[in-house]
Amino acid sequence: MDLSYTPEQEAFRRQLRKWIKANLPARDKDAPGLEYGNPQRIQELKAWQRKLYDAGYLAMGWPKEYGGQDADIVQQTIVNEELLLARAPALIGMMGIQMVGPTLIQFGTEEQRRRYLPKILSAEEIWCQGYSEPGAGSDLASLKTRAELMGDEFIVNGQKVWTSNAQFADWLFGLVRTDPSAPKHRGISYLLIDMKTPGITVRPLIQMTGDPGFNEVFFEDVRVPRQNLVGELNQGWLVANATLAHERNMLGSTVHTQQMFNGVLRLARQRRRYGRPAAEDPVMRQRLADLMIRVEAMKYHAYRQLTDSIKHRPLGIGASVNKLVSTELNHDITAMALEIMGSYGFLARTSRHVIDRGLWPIEFMFTLGLIIGGGTSQIQKNIISERGLGMPRK
Ligand SMILES: Cc1cc2nc3c(=O)[nH]c(=O)nc-3n(C[C@H](O)[C@H](O)[C@H](O)COP(=O)(O)OP(=O)(O)OC[C@H]3O[C@@H](n4cnc5c(N)ncnc54)[C@H](O)[C@@H]3O)c2cc1C
Repeated sequence: MDLSYTPEQEAFRRQLRKWIKANLPARDKDAPGLEYGNPQRIQELKAWQRKLYDAGYLAMGWPKEYGGQDADIVQQTIVNEELLLARAPALIGMMGIQMVGPTLIQFGTEEQRRRYLPKILSAEEIWCQGYSEPGAGSDLASLKTRAELMGDEFIVNGQKVWTSNAQFADWLFGLVRTDPSAPKHRGISYLLIDMKTPGITVRPLIQMTGDPGFNEVFFEDVRVPRQNLVGELNQGWLVANATLAHERNMLGSTVHTQQMFNGVLRLARQRRRYGRPAAEDPVMRQRLADLMIRVEAMKYHAYRQLTDSIKHRPLGIGASVNKLVSTELNHDITAMALEIMGSYGFLARTSRHVIDRGLWPIEFMFTLGLIIGGGTSQIQKNIISERGLGMPRK
């Protein structure tokens, strides 16, 4: 297998590197991603995404008429890698670009694609995901938020929870129950809901990182035009699963994992354990080698998925494998960092003794959340065993 890039792809990478160097605002390099309560930061991140879009570096694989470049997926992979290597901030419109956007390309009407896709890319409209409810997480099909079709409108009542970014999102793609009498997977529909519609209340929830990253969202007689339905009425489960597969792929990035692992190696060389650098301790070496092997295995799995995408093969259980492996590995890498740092790992960001500006404990908590979000590890294991390995359902 030839894993090298073609001369044209290498030339594209060089030109892109130059562009990033000239355009990534200095304040954005290594800056904390989102600060949820800081409207100025949100505007800055929108401006950065807009710049990438104007330069043609976003969603390069999408058709031109929807704001893409009709380019092959390898080019987009190179862009994603280079942005991470340059330590650019994550894209504020990621849920639009990676989740609802590809879903609309697959299931949306022509009118929906033309209306929503360009504004997703330009960051004029930010999206959030309204799937989970207080009684419906892993068992998502138990959701109860009700949407009654009255003439040309749905009337939505109910509650969503853990809705990331809802406090500044313009739109929500969500699941609602449209036929309570049907078996639970069959009475669900997929709606696009304008967050400014009267009757919507958003209440931020504070995560253990201290950030209000996600929210409760309440719907009280919220009117949604029928034309905002994606796919067929009561067939939303099919559409929802397409979005979930895209989400699971989005959550696993090899370059990010590699960068975190390099950070741990650096710590292991700098910090001392039993009178010598931690990297020379035989137990630590063994564990670092174990993590490194997992990072390499993840990299080759990502190559295999890239090949599948180039050949237009369905994502299948590859997305679940990716999600399971990468989120658990990221958390284990951060746990290793904390162990190497010992009690320094618990220092507040403001302490003058803090290491790496207090990044590691925050990453440790954040990566734990990603093991749960997008479907927990246990659920991914169920999917892999049942749909991939053909094991019987319990
Ligand atoms: C950081 C973060 C961001 C999120 N963002 C969003 C968002 O933007 N939009 C949104 O809709 N949701 C979001 N979520 C919610 C997320 O999708 C749910 O938390 C997740 O699906 C799990 O559901 P739950 O929390 O209700 O846990 P539960 O489903 O109650 O699970 C509790 C435990 O039981 C286990 N379990 C449950 N069922 C099974 C089973 N059949 N087999 C084996 N084990 C099982 C689970 O693995 C878990 O360990 C987010 C969550 C997090 C942590």
